[in-house]
Amino acid sequence: MSCTQPTEIPQVPIALIGGSGTFSLRLPEDLAWPGVEVLEDGLVYATPWGPSPALKLFSLPTTPPRLVLTVKMHGRLPGVSWGEASRRLFWVLRQAGVRKVVAEGGVGSINPLLDPLDIVVPTDYIDFSQRRDVALGEDYLCIMRRPICPSLHETLVRVAGAQPLNRVFSRGTYLVTEGRHFESEAEIKVFRQWGADIVGQTLCPEVYLAREIGACFAGIYLVVNYAEGTVKPWEHKVLKDIFFEGAEPFARLILQALMEIHLDSSCGCRELRKDTLLRPENIGRARRRGDNSQ
Ligand SMILES: [Zn+2]
Repeated sequence: MSCTQPTEIPQVPIALIGGSGTFSLRLPEDLAWPGVEVLEDGLVYATPWGPSPALKLFSLPTTPPRLVLTVKMHGRLPGVSWGEASRRLFWVLRQAGVRKVVAEGGVGSINPLLDPLDIVVPTDYIDFSQRRDVALGEDYLCIMRRPICPSLHETLVRVAGAQPLNRVFSRGTYLVTEGRHFESEAEIKVFRQWGADIVGQTLCPEVYLAREIGACFAGIYLVVNYAEGTVKPWEHKVLKDIFFEGAEPFARLILQALMEIHLDSSCGCRELRKDTLLRPENIGRARRRGDNSQ
């Protein structure tokens, strides 16, 4: 892959954060989708914390064409903590003016109703990771009520539901662990009691960072294994088969969804980001408005 050192970050409305669900593909090239065009690849930007993950810019054959910035495997960087890599990625997405963020990944099933190859478009999360303080700055109070954009969620569920290969679940709670290892059986038992349906390592901090940059966020996740102690012990071969064979249809439906998502902001996600009150000038402003409620 060529690596360029661009100075100017393009203005792009949509970001696709690739994960293990499509990792085995070159996305979008391997789909050979008519009209989808890769414009630049290997884009690495200088952020305040070091080089960004390598991004790819491609366009979708919509009218007018939609630009998408994408990264592989959540923007992981060798030797850099996962939270730090996410922070650099979202710094670039903020500079690019990204308004809609769609993430994907592979997850384990905690809910015994789920099987490998099921698709879950979760509606909430529990953050059991230790990465809660990952942020770009201290300017905003991010309210995590309704964390998943209802508009992006609707499009993902509708497009996924139109394909015949996978069962699609439109509700669920994603439990985020620190990784990099999987979970123990006792942990999964606790997570099930908490009401979690699936387990993975990435929805947080991505959902926090998206809210911080004022973007909508939704994720679509492919069940790749039973979590420990759920239904039956999972097999590495099944995981591997899904990793390679499940990627293409999963990527196709995500691309289709990106062509159909609404780019307006009538969903109201942006209003769940408020100016922080932890600054003298903002306290003065709130007092002048007679607003002491928060
Ligand atoms: Zn939204």
